[in-house]
Amino acid sequence: TVKSRGRNGYDFFDPTMETKSLERILMENELRKAIEQKHFEIYYQPKMDIGSKQLVGMEALVRWIHPELGMIPPNRFIPIAEETGMILPLGEWILREACRQNKEWHEQGYELKVSVNLSARQIYQKDLVENIRQILNDTKLDPKWLELEITESIFVKMEEATPVLQEIREEGIQISIDDFGTGYSSFSYIKSLPVDTIKIDASFIRDVHHNQESQAIVKAIVTIAESLNMNVVAEGIELTDQAEALQLNGCDQGQGYLFSKPLAKQDFDHYLKAK
Ligand code: C2E
Ligand code: MG
Ligand code: MG
Ligand code: MG
Repeated sequence: TVKSRGRNGYDFFDPTMETKSLERILMENELRKAIEQKHFEIYYQPKMDIGSKQLVGMEALVRWIHPELGMIPPNRFIPIAEETGMILPLGEWILREACRQNKEWHEQGYELKVSVNLSARQIYQKDLVENIRQILNDTKLDPKWLELEITESIFVKMEEATPVLQEIREEGIQISIDDFGTGYSSFSYIKSLPVDTIKIDASFIRDVHHNQESQAIVKAIVTIAESLNMNVVAEGIELTDQAEALQLNGCDQGQGYLFSKPLAKQDFDHYLKAK
């Protein structure tokens, strides 16, 4: 009844709160174990030249393979890994594994660029650039075949992030800004960013084939990117109509289920051989 509730219409004591935090504690413990035991796999999603349907690279996307629960998607554990700091060892493992794997594909004759997602926490880590250098040195991957994807969230501390990004680029590694357009100030800060590529968020792609506003946004991003000498990639392309609308508005590269879902290593191997 209304009477038993608090001023905001909610109970003062929410019994689910206890279970939530218990679940959270269990989750954190499981995640800690998983990092120690390396219960993760990296999936690779093809990145395409939309017009020629040529493969240009792939995005590394981590999956947690839990021995009892099966596959757990990144949206369920990356935020916890970020809050607890576990993203630092996990992120380093992902980066190393993606570089090692890409080097292996290079040795088989596939010249592809691998894109690895980086959390804000990793950018503010003191020895990030040194770690990356070490990984490239160990795996012998040429830095030009590595790209790091960051989101706008890192620009909360713009003055801290910018020199780190500059240092990364001086190594010959590329930087891409993920989920572009979903932040508050995308257009105001873009000119001062040391980035090579803008990834247009999937929310603008979903209706781009029948919504003029989304088309205008895509066109505006492409125009800005061109004048700043940046590349543009669209994410979440599922339909040929969307791919066509993107091309009409000048966006030449993209990822999405239309081309391929993220693939496990073995499936990506098959995908490469079938090309
Ligand atoms: P993101 O970097 O923006 O990655 C794109 C997400 O969209 C991926 O989800 C991908 O599987 C999904 N996707 C790709 N094409 C389509 C499509 O056509 N339709 C739809 N509906 N979805 C599509 P995923 O793999 O679940 O990853 C979700 C997010 O988790 C990523 O978003 C990224 O922010 C984070 N993430 C994933 N792997 C890593 C990682 O290794 N490190 C860090 N820090 N974050 C990661
Ligand atoms: Mg990404
Ligand atoms: Mg994205
Ligand atoms: Mg996203």
